Amino acid sequence: MAQTRGIHSYKQHQLTEDDHFDAIVIGSGIGGMACAALLARDGEKVLVLEKHYTAGGFTHVFKRNGYEWDVGIHYIGGVNHPKAMLYTLFHYLSQGKMQWEDMGPVYDKVLFGDEVFEFRKGPENFANTLKTYFPEAKDQRAIDQYLDLVQQANKASTNFFTEKAMPPAMSSVVGRKMRKPFLQFASQTTRDVLEELTSNERLIGVLTAQFGDYGVTPGSSSFGIHALVANHYLHGAAFPVGGSARIAETIAETIADADGMILTNAGVEEIIVEGKKAVGVRMADGRTLHAPLIISSAGVLNTYKRLIPTSLQDSLKLPAKVQTVKPSVAHLGLYIGFKETTVDLGLQKANYWIYPAGKYNHDQNVAAYLADPENSEFPIVYVSFPSAKDPEWEARYPGKSTVDIITLAPYDWFEKWEGTKWKRRGEDYDAFKEALSQKLLEVLYRYEPQLRGKVDHYELSTPLSTKDFVNYEAGEIYGLEHDPNRFEQTFLRPQTPIKNLYLTGQDIVTAGIGGALMAGFLTISAIKKRDYVSKARKAALQAINNDQ
Ligand SMILES: Cc1cc2nc3c(=O)[nH]c(=O)nc-3n(C[C@H](O)[C@H](O)[C@H](O)COP(=O)(O)OP(=O)(O)OC[C@H]3O[C@@H](n4cnc5c(N)ncnc54)[C@H](O)[C@@H]3O)c2cc1C
Repeated sequence: MAQTRGIHSYKQHQLTEDDHFDAIVIGSGIGGMACAALLARDGEKVLVLEKHYTAGGFTHVFKRNGYEWDVGIHYIGGVNHPKAMLYTLFHYLSQGKMQWEDMGPVYDKVLFGDEVFEFRKGPENFANTLKTYFPEAKDQRAIDQYLDLVQQANKASTNFFTEKAMPPAMSSVVGRKMRKPFLQFASQTTRDVLEELTSNERLIGVLTAQFGDYGVTPGSSSFGIHALVANHYLHGAAFPVGGSARIAETIAETIADADGMILTNAGVEEIIVEGKKAVGVRMADGRTLHAPLIISSAGVLNTYKRLIPTSLQDSLKLPAKVQTVKPSVAHLGLYIGFKETTVDLGLQKANYWIYPAGKYNHDQNVAAYLADPENSEFPIVYVSFPSAKDPEWEARYPGKSTVDIITLAPYDWFEKWEGTKWKRRGEDYDAFKEALSQKLLEVLYRYEPQLRGKVDHYELSTPLSTKDFVNYEAGEIYGLEHDPNRFEQTFLRPQTPIKNLYLTGQDIVTAGIGGALMAGFLTISAIKKRDYVSKARKAALQAINNDQ
């Protein structure tokens, strides 16, 4: 990463008082990077400030003991076809450098014990395959009705999100009308919507098996996020060629082409506000940097609770806004390395969603686990095989393979180690991690028994890792909770009460690379009062046509 054009360390790169930037972006997640690259493609010089030692937010990878793992990307929808929306937007941001590898006909495998349900690429294949598992006429009808609702909600979401980029005066006239159709879906829980269609708990359990993609069980999640995520993957999924780091690397080059840069190890302490206007940032080392435009991609809670001067927060009524939303759940990530090729180990591309045998009610499973974690099975275990998904993996890491495992874990299990330093949190912490790691490995061996005895390296990330490396205060996996209430909050938009300060990233649209990326486009559209999605899509399609 240190070699990448456009990415430097704040400690090593000497910024001078004369360095002028058209904009400062706080945080190098995909939302912030999209903003920076859109401005750069218009010729503007942008400085992206990233607290972590590496760029990319959740798109970053980390390397250890000769392996590399992706942190926050396992599959992305809408990029496996040159005319697909996200494909074109990534093409524009990376100037055609970003490439994607399709995951093939099956992107997710849902496993309740020995029962296997495949999620197949293409709405028709998806429905037809599900119907083989649910042959009764009333279940088949429910599957069709479900897909219809998912599509209706997605259609309605376009106006809902477009409204966020509108100037406040226009929004006060048409905003309500634009938001309403999607809110009819989003203000209901996923369980409420599905129970209208079926009383078959097994079918509900399968249809909501991707709830880990947004971190909330059906009884608490908004049907809005459920419908967006389900639809996102319906046409299949893909993985970045060369690994997730390619996202930050390729976009950094676009930023560098307009003389901008990303500085890592560059934590922002405060946004400097003069009058009611943002004019710059104060860094953790006390230094100040100025620009006429400040965009925060550091999350709404970080920005409104920690980066805006405390003296201003009350007068801007920020605490009242912030208390209407809550952080999402935290997670454990087990990163595993093997000294054998993916082919030799027989690893496939499809992700596994593993659930307790015969227990289809995710709300009950999670509640039981939280009440008695030691004596409960994990209520959800997600397994991804990144080395099988990246076609360049074998050339980059010959003879090796990786597996990632994710499960939910509340932050308060780890609170007592808050304030300790990474890798030096104490023997009790290490022992707790080891017990959790072994329990997760046993789940993996149940489905991939050939891996037993072959693990060369493993390490577990906890909510404290998420807090330390990506600066989410409660180690939250997906920013703000995706409950119905979140979608009703009109303050979750790019504009802020402070002039020249804008927000972007997953809290503004939704979690997911697609959601956070769209937030970047909305933010720049709001700033420039122009539709940057259409602009980028048109330019990308033209470039793709010219290349053919
Ligand atoms: C385990 C996991 C798996 C996931 N899997 C997928 C997947 O398979 N597919 C998918 O589409 N999505 C997935 N996601 C979700 C997706 O990665 C995120 O929703 C998305 O990357 C968030 O992007 P963002 O732009 O909001 O910013 P983030 O990626 O959250 O980045 C914010 C950045 O701001 C920086 N920052 C914070 N405070 C400061 C400060 N004061 N100064 C400077 N910098 C600061 C942080 O260090 C961070 O780098 C996953 C997420 C996780 C955690």
